[in-house]
Amino acid sequence: MKRVLHRAWAEIDLSALDHNIKEVKAVLPKKMELMAVVKANAYGHGDEAVCKRLAELGVKWFAVSNLEEALSVRKVCPDAEIFILGYTPPECAEDIAKYNIIQGVMSLEYAEELCRYAAEPVRCHIKLDTGMGRIGFRSKNANACAEELLPLFAMEKLSVEGIYTHFAAADSPEDDDIKYTEMQEKRIFDVYDRLAELGHKLSHIHCMNSAASIVRPNEKCTLARVGIVMYGLLPNYPVELPIDLRPVMTFKSVISQVKEIEEGDSVSYGRTYTAESTRRVATVTVGYADGYARLLSGKGKALVHGTACPIVGRVCMDQLMLDVTDVSEEVRSGDEVTLFGDCEITADHLASLYGTIGYEIVCGISKRVPRIVIE
Ligand SMILES: *Cc1c(COP(=O)(O)O)cnc(C)c1O
Repeated sequence: MKRVLHRAWAEIDLSALDHNIKEVKAVLPKKMELMAVVKANAYGHGDEAVCKRLAELGVKWFAVSNLEEALSVRKVCPDAEIFILGYTPPECAEDIAKYNIIQGVMSLEYAEELCRYAAEPVRCHIKLDTGMGRIGFRSKNANACAEELLPLFAMEKLSVEGIYTHFAAADSPEDDDIKYTEMQEKRIFDVYDRLAELGHKLSHIHCMNSAASIVRPNEKCTLARVGIVMYGLLPNYPVELPIDLRPVMTFKSVISQVKEIEEGDSVSYGRTYTAESTRRVATVTVGYADGYARLLSGKGKALVHGTACPIVGRVCMDQLMLDVTDVSEEVRSGDEVTLFGDCEITADHLASLYGTIGYEIVCGISKRVPRIVIE
């Protein structure tokens, strides 16, 4: 690794990605294809390396959140099916078609706008709102919903190929949440069946995210939209899943200086930490500008020579301090620090300490942090 990068970096372990994909494929019904969700720069892991590896593993479908991400995947995967999950400004219709991208369509009005700007037909899947309350055609009454969708099939600049929805609580083990997911599932299948009766049998239907793909894979779906478990994190920590996952991202930094402080000495902004005895404190070259949350001040721990050391005082923009008194080896400037990853401190665990989810941690690792790909 170049010395210049040796400040804060994220190791992206592609063998962990291989492992997680194998685990997911083992629980999916044979004919179902995996749609790898690689939005937000592959959840912060770097979409170029991740998509390239996924393509090598035989993944043909990729899901993203916008056109820019779609074009970034297209560069790496010239033959892949690339699907945009959410709203793309209709002015982009020409590019969507030009790069052979599939767009989610959430309303008639949106479809009309897309057609207005399209030169050639835009491939699309219909988005149903079966209970997420976010985007999509409302689908409480299947017959009425199917009728409402009919104009889409008459639009010349639209090629309707599939239908999909998104679950609100598939990651929950609670009975009423399971019932809610079943209700959502029934709604999309009812609309799909009604459309088929009306002469529009769609090639694709998909509703499962990671949690549903693992816990309740449905044979009737043609695609499984898998995101977070591919990266080795849990949809709803600490609720375990019956597969073995390995975190793909490990976030590391180095120690710049180690010093001894005395009883009564304070550390960092606002003097929120005061030593109660003589302590050894190490300064680490990572901070909230790298995506290590300031809310972890006084809460998080990081590994130094394998020992979990508590953060003392506030996390700064580019630095934070650890109490390394309990590390049995000598701690020196230049030593490596593991903040989270494929170790006892997972992104999920760290997230739980300040009220968020592992998704937000990995997506939030900032642009200035180089991603170092490990084969
Ligand atoms: C992000 C997203 C997914 C993937 O969810 P995971 O929980 O990461 O598997 C699937 N579908 C839609 C519509 C999404 O926005």
